[in-house]
Amino acid sequence: MVCEINHQLHERSSSSVGLEKVKYLLTKTGIPSSVTSPLESLQKGNWVKLICGASFEDVVDIRNLSLVYTLAGVDCIDCASEASVINAVNDGIESAKAIIPIRRPWVMVSVNDDEDLHFRKAEFDPENCPVDCSRPCERICPANAISYTGKAGLPKVHLISYILQGGVLAERCYGCGRCLPICPYEKIRASTYVRDAAATAELLKQDGVDAIEIHTNGRKVESFQELWNSLGDSIEKLRLVAVSLPDTNELTIPVMHSIYATMNANLRCHNLWQLDGRPMSGDIGRGATRQAITFALHISAARDRPKGFLQLAGGNNAYTVDGLKKEGLFKTTSLPEKLNDEATPFNSSYSSDALIGGVAFGSYARKIVGKVLSSLQMEHGYVDIEAYPEYLLEALTESLALVGTVKCFP
Ligand code: SF4
Ligand code: SF4
Repeated sequence: MVCEINHQLHERSSSSVGLEKVKYLLTKTGIPSSVTSPLESLQKGNWVKLICGASFEDVVDIRNLSLVYTLAGVDCIDCASEASVINAVNDGIESAKAIIPIRRPWVMVSVNDDEDLHFRKAEFDPENCPVDCSRPCERICPANAISYTGKAGLPKVHLISYILQGGVLAERCYGCGRCLPICPYEKIRASTYVRDAAATAELLKQDGVDAIEIHTNGRKVESFQELWNSLGDSIEKLRLVAVSLPDTNELTIPVMHSIYATMNANLRCHNLWQLDGRPMSGDIGRGATRQAITFALHISAARDRPKGFLQLAGGNNAYTVDGLKKEGLFKTTSLPEKLNDEATPFNSSYSSDALIGGVAFGSYARKIVGKVLSSLQMEHGYVDIEAYPEYLLEALTESLALVGTVKCFP
């Protein structure tokens, strides 16, 4: 018993020493977001959004990711439109604020108006898999969403009596699709879904949701109109409405105009265009960000585009800002005075000189912190990351380096 108490005292004291190191790192870095509002960041051109994933619903990881990236100074956390996920994000944010006073990032929920790559889950029945399959699906999954229990890897003589168990962990699958073509037996299929508009409208009315993102494929504007009308007055309390769309070349600007015309009648807040380059690919490598930059070049040069901030997504990683700088698209501005979110008329916000409002990081952001979260989980189970400051410090070092590429802190 005494040993147990001593152990707890040691854990507590090393935990508080560790948290002091975390605070020191944050103070030394001088995170601008501790004083800068998300709206100011958009206006300056150094807005950063963390994308947890429109279909990613592992609430333990989401809570810890939200805590880490709140401390790193992101302006917005984008997550699945599910009550448990929204609660996990807000829990992470509040826990970060308990460590160091920092302003709250906006919480954004993602929905779709039609079939969309971000809203799908891989599925297969592991019992139908050949037991001697080398399981390339498991290795390629960036979310560790495919797992098997036990049986494989045994001498072939035993295989006849074994079946594979496990399969896709639905809450971790975010629909990247990498497992689909790799299965030599074509056992994996994708199941798509559309978020229910009425359920979304209820979630938007709750505290703890500041923004919505509507994913549209840019092909059927009627689907967008239908969803927008179904959301009704639930959008009135929001601070930002984002529309995520792919590059459909010469069709993009006309589609943006049709969407803006639909929203304009009852848009009471700021709006943003998420330019989705190569979806869910930032973790693949340096070149993944190219499509988003090309898309940004196209849209930022279009003088006839509708009103709204521009933000890159899809393929972004640690190289995105370098690419933007080369194209002359990364221009942050310093504002003459601190603006107040509530007091600023929303249509004055587009006076910013920044061509691009900011950048969203998804799979790359999750990968660099996810490896820390995986070792934390293997070592200690499903725990709050701040209870193990050495892990928090490691995760923060990674996240600050990424967020810092946009925020310009070292
Ligand atoms: S779709 Fe992507 S995240 Fe989902 S199981 Fe397949 S590889 Fe993993
Ligand atoms: S690659 Fe295909 S057959 Fe092999 S374990 Fe994965 S889903 Fe089953």
